[in-house]
Amino acid sequence: MEKVTEKQLEKWVDHIRIYANNGKVADYIPALKRQNPEINAASFFHLDGECVQAGEADYFFTIQSVSKVLALAVALMNHGEDAVFSRVGKEPTSDPFYSISKLEVEKPSKPINPMINAGALAVTNMMSGKTTDDMLHEILDFVHLLTGDETIDYDKEVAQSEYNSAFLNRSLCYFMKQNGIITGSVEELHDVYTKQCAIQMNVKQLAKVAGIFANEGKDIETGEQLIPHHYARICNTFMGTCGMYNQSGSFAINVGIPAKSGVSGVIMGVVNDVGGVAVFGPALDKQGNSVIGVKLLEIMSRYYQWSIF
Ligand code: GLU
Repeated sequence: MEKVTEKQLEKWVDHIRIYANNGKVADYIPALKRQNPEINAASFFHLDGECVQAGEADYFFTIQSVSKVLALAVALMNHGEDAVFSRVGKEPTSDPFYSISKLEVEKPSKPINPMINAGALAVTNMMSGKTTDDMLHEILDFVHLLTGDETIDYDKEVAQSEYNSAFLNRSLCYFMKQNGIITGSVEELHDVYTKQCAIQMNVKQLAKVAGIFANEGKDIETGEQLIPHHYARICNTFMGTCGMYNQSGSFAINVGIPAKSGVSGVIMGVVNDVGGVAVFGPALDKQGNSVIGVKLLEIMSRYYQWSIF
């Protein structure tokens, strides 16, 4: 298969810049409102170790919902499949990521999947650490392991801003607490969740993480099994069926790779046995996906024939 070259990527990243005008930066988390919609960046990490990038590839953004995949992998590794899926379902949904409606009507009222907020909160509630700091560090340590970069941390301002304003996520938690899906303090869970969402990375670091999911959970340089293959496959499946919010169906048709987006404007994509891709551009479409991110992945998938379908 033809490799992604820096020259080609630069050409596309330049070409899609204009599409940012079709979207809007997320504003429900006050600190995200300040993001510059003109920034865009992309990186591709090949499984032979070569990493190419284009645009503002050193720019740090918060990974937001991409952290849901990482927390899920940690929970699976710590507790196993049965425990995780006793708290959260496996089905896609056409509801928005913040929706509360299914929690009310489904019996048992476990969240429908771990890629929506309710499901992600239930997964973060499974971190084994005794303190909120320990819980956050389980996720951060995992990020350090995957990227090989121990300097990665979270953005305190973005975390605090979401913590101060996340009333909807708190209500999801109180619903789930009432029904025995989550335990402990809702405020403490929010402390961990908002910090995990505020973990800061650039596209190069995130493309490497995606590469590990594309490499059956193995480290690209050493071949060490960092995530058991079966768990990496579960994460990829959720990305493929639920990773792009309630646009996951059309994304599957138009792009056809497992991917997870976050409201900061990031998308992480997994091209199985080929490499990992990360795209950033803060202007979002109605479903909350990066407009330029989706556009770039459509172009790349068509050109390299990445679709798994
Ligand atoms: N921190 C965000 C929230 O919970 C993440 C949402 C997202 O990126 O989809 O609302």
